[in-house]
Amino acid sequence: MDAIATPDIAGIVADIAAEMRLSSERGQVASYIPPLAAVSPDKFGIAVILADGSAHVAGDADEAFSIQSISKVFALTLALGAVGDQLWQRVGREPSGSAFNSIVQLESEQGIPRNPFINAGAIVVCDMLLGRSAPAEAIAQMVRFVRQISSDDQASIGIDETVALAEQDTGFRNMALANYMRAFGNIRAPVERVLGVYFHFCALAMTCRELALAGRYLMNGGRVDGHSMITPSRARRINALMMSCGHYDNSGDFAFRVGLPGKSGVGGGILCVAPGVASIAVWSPGLNASGNSQLGTLALERLVQRTGWSVFEPRG
Ligand code: GLN
Repeated sequence: MDAIATPDIAGIVADIAAEMRLSSERGQVASYIPPLAAVSPDKFGIAVILADGSAHVAGDADEAFSIQSISKVFALTLALGAVGDQLWQRVGREPSGSAFNSIVQLESEQGIPRNPFINAGAIVVCDMLLGRSAPAEAIAQMVRFVRQISSDDQASIGIDETVALAEQDTGFRNMALANYMRAFGNIRAPVERVLGVYFHFCALAMTCRELALAGRYLMNGGRVDGHSMITPSRARRINALMMSCGHYDNSGDFAFRVGLPGKSGVGGGILCVAPGVASIAVWSPGLNASGNSQLGTLALERLVQRTGWSVFEPRG
């Protein structure tokens, strides 16, 4: 482990934060809801948790932000626990090559979303999580799970209700996706309930440090602090989906530049996993054309250049 983690991570993380602070190409902050539009584009945070548990952070790593679609990873993890591999009868495992909120493929593919990380796929995942429980229970279960995997004993992680409400007020596309899939029988609970869960998941607020802690189970074959959260094969498969689908129609380019499983959100966060080596979270609110953090991606590219952590590079 030490051989892999030999680079001076603290120094590298500090260098990256310093470089990002000076960058003028920061992308566009999401503007579809006021609470996201109000976030300063100057923010930048990075947190790296190594396999030995040590944490290296810089910049605004302890400021909470809206994790948005990164929550789709945690929702998938919970749904696989609830329904197992049956999940794959209702959601695919292929990159979509389309925008995160696209509806185009749903007609020709009979309401089966391409993967669990686009909005349509995550909405089906929420429907599965609802199962027999009420929306409030599904939301509480998610908050409990995220606190647990982040070792958040203070219960600081929660839902930003202002964001959840704003998602609800503006979520016409998500409503269209859900209703369309309901017409194909791939949404079973009432659409408003499913979307209530989906919007609350999008509104989870976390810091980079908390998010990197939350990603440890994916770095460690499903284990956190000696406890098994999911099986190693499930962790491996979730990582595979993050690599192929975690950045929407930008997933190929992310693999090319960074070469690690990663999941982005329109709040400007990215959770990235170097299996066996590190769990990493970056945050910079300015987005590129595909809705992924512009500087966050660059920061991860720099990190991988300096550490050799890409899964496509030889180890050891
Ligand atoms: N709340 C956003 C939506 O549903 C989440 C999308 C994202 O983070 N890519 O459209």
